[in-house]
Amino acid sequence: MTLKFDIQPSPNPTSDKDRAAKLVDPGFGRVFTDHMAIVRYSQGKGWHSARVEARASFPLDPAGAVLHYAQEIFEGLKAYKRDDGGVNLFRPDANARRFHDSAERMAMAPLPEDLFIDAVEQLVRIDRAWIPGGEGSLYLRPFMIASEIFLGVKPSAEYIFSVIASPVGSYFKGGPAPVSIWVSENYTRAAIGGTGAVKCGGNYAASLRAQAEAIERGCDQVVFLDAVERRYIEELGGMNVFFAFDDGSLLTPPLGTILPGITRDSIIALAKDAGTRVREEPYTIQQWRADAASGKLKEAFACGTAAVISPIGKVCSASGDFQISGGVAGPVAMGLRKKLVDIQYGRTNDPHNWIRNV
Ligand code: PMP
Repeated sequence: MTLKFDIQPSPNPTSDKDRAAKLVDPGFGRVFTDHMAIVRYSQGKGWHSARVEARASFPLDPAGAVLHYAQEIFEGLKAYKRDDGGVNLFRPDANARRFHDSAERMAMAPLPEDLFIDAVEQLVRIDRAWIPGGEGSLYLRPFMIASEIFLGVKPSAEYIFSVIASPVGSYFKGGPAPVSIWVSENYTRAAIGGTGAVKCGGNYAASLRAQAEAIERGCDQVVFLDAVERRYIEELGGMNVFFAFDDGSLLTPPLGTILPGITRDSIIALAKDAGTRVREEPYTIQQWRADAASGKLKEAFACGTAAVISPIGKVCSASGDFQISGGVAGPVAMGLRKKLVDIQYGRTNDPHNWIRNV
């Protein structure tokens, strides 16, 4: 689909001095660039009015559909600054495809994948001075909301697609620290036939109580079990999970009710390249505990765009806690992390053609 973006640079861009100050320690998700990309959809007219303009609030009618029935989807991907000054996007086509799938599941207007990528690239180009150097990156947040003014429960006839960008620092200062996770036995994240496999805002709203419970229990993150038998490991609130065994194999829960993570898919590919046996199989919390005790399980780690790979050091649950690999980051997690990060920053060759230069 060809839709030309009308580029309207901000009349009041942040000064070089102020931007440099904001990039010193941006943290995650609180600092934003000067611009946003925006495309509108109306039934009958299709996608139209593609613009890149100064970042600003949306005027939203109080009867706007998203505010009532939560027709909202989003994505998360990053732009990385290479040592030679170039800019890499990591697998934006995979995010575009998942966004398309999310829209279909939520009965929203599917956005053509090339339009998604174009919007992301246009924003990265105009705001490229905001990409931090070193281990930082520019986190890109494409999202779509239902904007029809109507209180009837039905798919909206109008949508706003937008991309905003937020510079982020290194997720872990001083190297990845193992995280502790809380096994949620009171709450589940996704049911068969539900929306667990897509990236809609409602999934995250529903996970917050479980995440709060994890924090109350002194843990960093929550891990969800399946909604039927309440014993198969699914995923964390915002990350997929892997297990590394003493026979050299890796295991990760199968797709279905979990989000098909792009980091998950990339790790499977890199591990297979190295000759590792990767199993996409169900794994119970009981087996996890037993394998940690017997020493059969060497490592466990979570993965996602934000943190790449986080080693899991400790698992806590109502029926007791257990440690993994002595609570320290293990070589499998750290080796895969380095391979992936080196590809993302363009420090090594890219055997799967994952990088797109902007
Ligand atoms: N699971 C959930 C629930 C997530 O929100 C995310 C982050 N998008 C992931 C897994 C990891 O996905 P990705 O590797 O594509 O970031």
